[in-house]
Parts: sequence; C-alpha cells; structure tokens
Amino acid sequence: MKITFYGVRGSTPVSGVDSLIFGGHTSCVYVTANNGDSIILDSGTGIIALGNELLSNCHDINMLVTHNHWDHIQGFPFFRPIYQDNRNISIIVGNVDYNDKDAILTQMSGSNHPVKYQDLPSIIQLDTELAKQDAFSLASFEITTQPLSHPDGGTAYCLHADNQKVAYVTDNELSPVNPPVTSWQEWLAFIDQADVLIHDAQYLAEDMPLKQGWGHSTVDQVVELALQAKVKRLYFISHDPARKDSDLLTIEASLRTKYQHQLAIEFAREGTHIELIASL
Ligand SMILES: [Zn+2]
Repeated sequence: MKITFYGVRGSTPVSGVDSLIFGGHTSCVYVTANNGDSIILDSGTGIIALGNELLSNCHDINMLVTHNHWDHIQGFPFFRPIYQDNRNISIIVGNVDYNDKDAILTQMSGSNHPVKYQDLPSIIQLDTELAKQDAFSLASFEITTQPLSHPDGGTAYCLHADNQKVAYVTDNELSPVNPPVTSWQEWLAFIDQADVLIHDAQYLAEDMPLKQGWGHSTVDQVVELALQAKVKRLYFISHDPARKDSDLLTIEASLRTKYQHQLAIEFAREGTHIELIASL
C-alpha cells in the first residue's frame, strides 16, 4: 500500500508562516493498494488538492469518513470530482450519534453553499450502515471498524490489503472520564501489529485534565498503545491548530528521543508520501 497525507491539522484549517512545514489543511489521507484501488480517508480541506489530481482519471472514488465534525467533511463541497458528470463516488460515513449521518452531503443545502447536493452531476452513493459492521469489503480492501471515543461518535477504520494493515484512528480519546465505548484492550486487538497507525494526538500530558472529555488523546497515550500493539510505524495527525509548526517540531523531537529504538514516530506533514514495504 501507499499512503499520502493531504491534510493533517485538527479542528480548523490554518494558514501563514507558522504552518508551512506541516501544512494547514484538515484531515484527508489517501491510501492506494498495489493494484491501483484507492480509498480516501476523511474529507477535510486536504481533499481539495486531492480532488484536483483525481480529475484527470475516471476511476471510481471510494471514501471512508470517520465522523461529521467540520474538520472531517468541510472540504467536500470543493472536491471537484463531485461536479464531474456521472463520476461514481461511494461514501461510507462513520456511525455518529445523531440522525444527520448524511451531513457530508446536506452541508450543501440551504444557505450554506450555492450548489445543492441534489443538483450534483456525479453519481454519489452514501452508506450510513456499513460502518456499524465489524468488517466489510470496499474495492479490493478489507475494512475493519471500531467505534471512536469522541463527542458525537464516529468510526475508526483498519484497511487491509497487500498483506498489510493501515489503522486510521481519529479523533479518539483513549482515557476519557466516562467508560470509553472502546476499551484499551479492544484498541490493542484492533490495531494489533499494524504496519502503520495514524492517530490524532492534539494534547500533551500538561493539557490534562482541562481537555479531558474533548475527544482526543495525549501523544504519550498513543505511543504507549502503539508499543503494546507492536505497531511498526506511528504517524500523528489532527494537530492542535493553536500549535505552531515550531511547537510540533519540538514535541516530535522529544518523542523521538524518549522512544528512541522502540518505535518509528512521525508527525505527518501535508504531502508526505509513504510506500509500505511488501511483507514476505
Ligand atoms: Zn472530531
């Protein structure tokens, strides 16, 4: 599999000199299997640049959305393939707690957006049920799911293809005040021996307990989980928009020092491209 990060910031896009290293767009990750099948993970503003690249081919588009917070759907109205005649776009949305599971589409209605989703010329199929299942197939990928511990709910996904496993877990609070919808042991089983874990980590230990209940983990909690699950590489996304690039570089360097020789850790940069080495 190949992975490209198109958006890594959390909560809201940012711009300016303090976001030039990691980029300013919100969540969007593109995963491609060796046979060319691909899946878009989330539809934050990072999807806009990806959409421009996808205009030149006519492949079916498959999208998994974790949940409906703005930073995971806000790029969709500007994803240009939705304006292509008869372009097939399949969207599976995370299992959120509200009845507005189709919010990625209905944000294009009323006075929010000049083009209404009902008028789009592409062929969009939205599925609000699949993410409730433990596992399903999408193109040549096998997908497994786990409920996120996050306000308003949502779904984490593992993508299995080419004898490899990529876990996409954002946004998720590993140690909430109330009992989590997914326990630590369940997370360990879910991400067990993943080639890559992509997880949010907006917070540091010193941000707690103030940010407890906000639906995100601390970087150290995620590293501990990844180590116990024997994950091979860990990529952090959904960076706190208030943190400057210089802050992220400092946190990343301290984690690499602290966990040296234990785990490959990286704060994902917009545009980062990874090719997973084929398993024997
Ligand atoms: Zn969220």
